[in-house]
Amino acid sequence: IEVIDRGASLVLSKLTEAGYEAYLVGGCVRDAVLGRPIKDIDIATSALPEQVMSCFPRTAPTGLQHGTVTVILSQGTYEVTTFRKETEYEGFRRPTSVEYISDLTEDLKRRDFTMNAMAMDAAGVVLDPFAGQKDLELGVLRCVGAAEERFGEDALRMLRCVRFASTYGLEVESSTWQALLAQAPLLRHIAMERVRSELQRMIEGPAPARAVRLLLASRLTAHLKKQLPLPFERWLAWDDALDAVSALEGQHDRWAMLLMLLEMPADTVRTALQELTFSRADCEAVVAVLALREAVAAQLTSGASQNAALALVQDPAPLERVWKLGAVRRGEAAARALLRLLSVLPQSPEQRGELARFLQTAAPELLRRGDAWLKEVPCFSLKELAISGTDLAEELGRQPGPWMGMLLQQLLERTALGEIPNERESLLLAARAAK
Ligand code: ATP
Ligand code: MG
Repeated sequence: IEVIDRGASLVLSKLTEAGYEAYLVGGCVRDAVLGRPIKDIDIATSALPEQVMSCFPRTAPTGLQHGTVTVILSQGTYEVTTFRKETEYEGFRRPTSVEYISDLTEDLKRRDFTMNAMAMDAAGVVLDPFAGQKDLELGVLRCVGAAEERFGEDALRMLRCVRFASTYGLEVESSTWQALLAQAPLLRHIAMERVRSELQRMIEGPAPARAVRLLLASRLTAHLKKQLPLPFERWLAWDDALDAVSALEGQHDRWAMLLMLLEMPADTVRTALQELTFSRADCEAVVAVLALREAVAAQLTSGASQNAALALVQDPAPLERVWKLGAVRRGEAAARALLRLLSVLPQSPEQRGELARFLQTAAPELLRRGDAWLKEVPCFSLKELAISGTDLAEELGRQPGPWMGMLLQQLLERTALGEIPNERESLLLAARAAK
């Protein structure tokens, strides 16, 4: 295992020389077997935490309640956990108390999937009592032990199941899948933060469409609905669009695309993302894209789609106006993101609904001219405007106040529309006239 990680190899030999058993376990063994890059290294040992601490000069008691000690070497830090068995599970999440044991197989047995229940010794020999390697060869994701029980103990495992199946391109083995269907309602016990983190890893991974389809088919999304009132089943109508999500690189782009397909008001989506504990910055970046599309779409409500498309080609001025205004109100980043989304979204003439109409009418025109229109906008924020609020107050001889922000925004929008150049004198002139 020296080739995998020199430091880990040192930790294992130190512990075995002291007379304990020690192995690499979990995700790093799985990834080593698959020949994939290894992220974090977990080590399991028969040594008790105090014994681990006495084997190494530098350690930190990072998770003593779970039996985990972090060993600090010049090569890096390594989490070393004493073999354990999990007793009582509480609240459908991992247990609060642990029991130390001396047997590796018992330790591997508490792990979620067979591919995550393998160990590797210092010589690089894989110990695989639950046939994880065979399942990997078959391309199958299987629970260790009775699946229904395992999902019942810890409902988070159901999301991990969908995540691993999608990111590793595995089929969920049939009894594991049946158990997932049976236990999906337990998802409501999982903290939103955990749900968000798993969803992010699925959507930001290599196969977001597969993840979405598994979430829908398992009805995990249906059980999320109590907490997140979003019509996830609408994704079923956007098969090609789901496949297009992976063509987007940015995480915000992917979320914006998926959420756009749900055709909900941007404000409703913001509430759901907040509920999911997304950071404020993540929320706002995603919502801005939806809000921009909403603003542009609102301009196009009249007329059958054929006529509306034709009208836009003949006279794109109204679209140009909402696009430029939308871009300064929602930000250049949102405008660029929306163009990227539109460029990967497949056209499907048989689709119905507001979004479909938008894709058939405004989208082609935005793809044709949207970028050029953005290039004509001299600035996208008040900071870049050639005058400040203080300039206005001095020049107009008024007390500073909220009026400054409103007037500046008005001026910004007029520069965006090309009515005023972004120059101090012209802006002040316009400000005086506006009063
Ligand atoms: P990755 O790091 O890519 O998410 P991983 O398998 O290493 O994958 P971790 O969350 O780092 O996942 O957990 C390390 C190991 O701990 C897993 O491989 C698995 O053996 C075990 N494990 C983690 N979470 C659970 C769980 N909820 N139930 C049972 N075993 C788990
Ligand atoms: Mg890991």
